[in-house]
Amino acid sequence: MAIRERRMDRMVGSVAHIFEWIETGGWQRHRLDPGIADFTFGNPQELPLPGLVDALRHNAVPGDKDWFAYKFSEADSRRVVVDSLRRRTRIAFEPEDVAMTAGAFGALGVTIRALCDEGDEVIFLSPPWFFYELMIHSSGATPVRVRLAAPDFALDADAVAAAITPRTRAVIVNSPNNPTGTIYRAPELAALGRVLTAASQRHGRPIVLLSDESYNRIVFDGIDFRSPALDYDASVTIYTYGKTLLAPGQRIGYAALSPTFPDREATRFAIMVQQLAAGWGFPNALLQHAIGDLEALSIDIGALQARRDRMVPALQALGYEVTRPEGTFYLMVRSPDPDDLAFCERLAGLGALVLPGTIVECPGWFRISLTASDAMVDRGLEAFAAAV
Ligand code: PMP
Repeated sequence: MAIRERRMDRMVGSVAHIFEWIETGGWQRHRLDPGIADFTFGNPQELPLPGLVDALRHNAVPGDKDWFAYKFSEADSRRVVVDSLRRRTRIAFEPEDVAMTAGAFGALGVTIRALCDEGDEVIFLSPPWFFYELMIHSSGATPVRVRLAAPDFALDADAVAAAITPRTRAVIVNSPNNPTGTIYRAPELAALGRVLTAASQRHGRPIVLLSDESYNRIVFDGIDFRSPALDYDASVTIYTYGKTLLAPGQRIGYAALSPTFPDREATRFAIMVQQLAAGWGFPNALLQHAIGDLEALSIDIGALQARRDRMVPALQALGYEVTRPEGTFYLMVRSPDPDDLAFCERLAGLGALVLPGTIVECPGWFRISLTASDAMVDRGLEAFAAAV
């Protein structure tokens, strides 16, 4: 009982600051203001992709009596995923190793819980995505934070090596990275692979690489995205369709074990059991029917890149220090006031909503989402100018 309560306390503690800011910060008070420029989250600010609406309509028409019956990780969905993964990574993923999930949230949650127990440790890189710590706590494992250095936020394999102990069960790597926009390259991924291989051998248990590739199709300047799974055998590739479709409320994604994953039959069964325990953690029937169509759809990545190419120099001209993201929706800006929460309040009063870096363990910075509309960029730049 005591252990359960402590686990829940740790879970609540890991997200309390986020919800406190959501409830009391400028976003809640100003997000519905007319003319507000909302750069806070990777949420749509315009109507959905017409192709998405067509795909949902078309696939809603039942083809047989089982159309809306209980769905697991369906064979057709897995085939679409495996074709896509093989084409993109050249890794020979197998359909049985793909768990269809409610987005990357679902994939991370069930995978971490399937792998970890009390006493295990899971390494994540900071600044992180908001909810890694929560999901690690929910499995009973202990989160171990490895900080990456601003302003490059490069993947530091030596720092990961230094954080590994005999209890390390998994390492979460997110490339392209939210919030930093960095894409990890072959040399640093090879170094990480060497570190994990050596540590797994030393400790007699494979350390799992959880490769959160939610943004692997949101890549700029023709950069070749390299999957971290290419450089390490015990990898799980995590994906969500919520980014390319910019429809995060339509929840479908997957966790795919690499064909080289040790003990993969037991692991995929454990993940399926966790999906049941999570309360039927499979995507809805309609989304699984539609996945072949969804796979081919994307928001306009060129438009996102153009928005980056407009905002980065405009912000620099105003005197801001800005990262130039290689992918994802996000750019990071150093707050002229070291108190990023205060500066973000000020920006909110001037009509631009952004995410304080403190929320993503990056105090002194703030995050801008490029999913804002072009009209919001126009208005937002006026607010960024007024704030300095
Ligand atoms: N991982 C990262 C890095 C993300 O940015 C997000 C979404 N913001 C997720 C996982 C979860 O994605 P989804 O909500 O589509 O499941």
